[in-house]
Amino acid sequence: MTENTTPVTPSRELTDFADLVSLCKRRGFIFPSSEIYGGIGSCWDYGPLGVELKLNIKNSWWRAMTDRDDIEGLDASILMHPRTWEASGHVEGFVDPLVDCKTCKGRFRADKLEHANCGKKSSLRPGQHGECQLTEPRQFNLMFKTFMGPLEESSSVVYLRPETAQGIFVNFENVQQTARQKIPFGIAQIGKAFRNEITPGNFIFRTREFEQMEMQYFVKPGTDMEWFEKWKEVRVNWHLGNGLRRSKLRFHPHGPTELAHYARAAFDVEYEFPIGWQEIEGIHNRSDFDLRRHQEFSGKKCEYFDEAAKEKYLPFVIETSVGCDRALLAVLCDAYRVEGERTVLKLHPKLAPYKVAVFPLMKKPELLELTDKVYADMKANFRATYDEGGTIGKRYRRQDEIGTPFCITVDYDGLTDQTVTVRERDGMTQERVAIGNLTRYIQDKMAAWKSE
Ligand code: ATP
Repeated sequence: MTENTTPVTPSRELTDFADLVSLCKRRGFIFPSSEIYGGIGSCWDYGPLGVELKLNIKNSWWRAMTDRDDIEGLDASILMHPRTWEASGHVEGFVDPLVDCKTCKGRFRADKLEHANCGKKSSLRPGQHGECQLTEPRQFNLMFKTFMGPLEESSSVVYLRPETAQGIFVNFENVQQTARQKIPFGIAQIGKAFRNEITPGNFIFRTREFEQMEMQYFVKPGTDMEWFEKWKEVRVNWHLGNGLRRSKLRFHPHGPTELAHYARAAFDVEYEFPIGWQEIEGIHNRSDFDLRRHQEFSGKKCEYFDEAAKEKYLPFVIETSVGCDRALLAVLCDAYRVEGERTVLKLHPKLAPYKVAVFPLMKKPELLELTDKVYADMKANFRATYDEGGTIGKRYRRQDEIGTPFCITVDYDGLTDQTVTVRERDGMTQERVAIGNLTRYIQDKMAAWKSE
């Protein structure tokens, strides 16, 4: 029996990051960093539910990459030999144009003025107010510098990596030889990256410390555009597989003036956030730029020897690079709905921090005993939570707001017929299910889940 106990109410989507920031703080997804000291610009801490959601996203990516026979994993260090960043072009070229306003003391990216607000009048763009005095743009390097060892001198300068990719390039030969991989093959890595962004903001969209999930796929020159096309499709499908609605995704090929110094072709996956369409992932054909430069700067050969064809060459690289925090922000924005009294996160069940919540109808010893048993069964199979506080309606609302797809209530009927009520988050339908069938029932529902 399936019954829908609540009338259908219109659904409102997220229109302002402020609502999401407040939900994330209230429910323990994301807190401002160092909050008791007033916070530190653009840094955020993931709370108990945020860290689960993030792990689920990382796991979804890691499995999608490394379950393939042609991709190996890596976890390289954040600090690397400083020559790495000369070879990669970051010391010279990882810059954004910066302008200051001498009047309001604001700092802006000269190439993003149309998205910034004047410090004197926020409805205007910097430079539009009569009193604005913008300086000429100057190039600002986004890499964070620090010192290795006790001496703060130029010879001990090291950088916090601004991308994870270079750890992969310098390990190309180590991985290829130890894993005995043949081209084409890829190396996948998840890790922190740091960029001293001029204008961080929009919650976790642009921060100075963030996590990337990057995969570099090494291919024979000449086959690169074919692989570039294949990876575009694979990556778009990954985002769809996390529940993002197709109507909220679009794809932006880079024109010749947008291409990065290393790229032959590039393609952004964009999501429609409340602030408009923005990149969540970049797919790049990096040619042999990186391996060639590392070969030149290190003096060590980075070529691949093709045993079968008896030929040596520098592989080309197709890169897929997605921000973990930005992907998580897209997932949260996509899932957020307000429906009448309730706020609900319609997360893909595989990403939801908890899959199941278990409630006793009342705090009576005879119900608690059976509830404990159901809860233990659920915990053995799913990430589950327990709640006995407040009315069942209130308990549903709490779980809706954190995206728990199934709530199980143990009541008096269950004591005699060994059934419970399972209530589904999205449609709010309720069904009686035999306790012995619960695991299978939830697994099937999770597998059949589709975004609206
Ligand atoms: P943008 O144009 O937004 O600055 P980008 O083109 O410099 O991004 P890439 O260098 O291609 O970005 O990085 C790959 C991915 O890493 C981006 O698609 C994004 O998801 C993520 N990313 C990059 N910079 C940041 C940041 N400052 N904060 C959070 N995520 C970031």
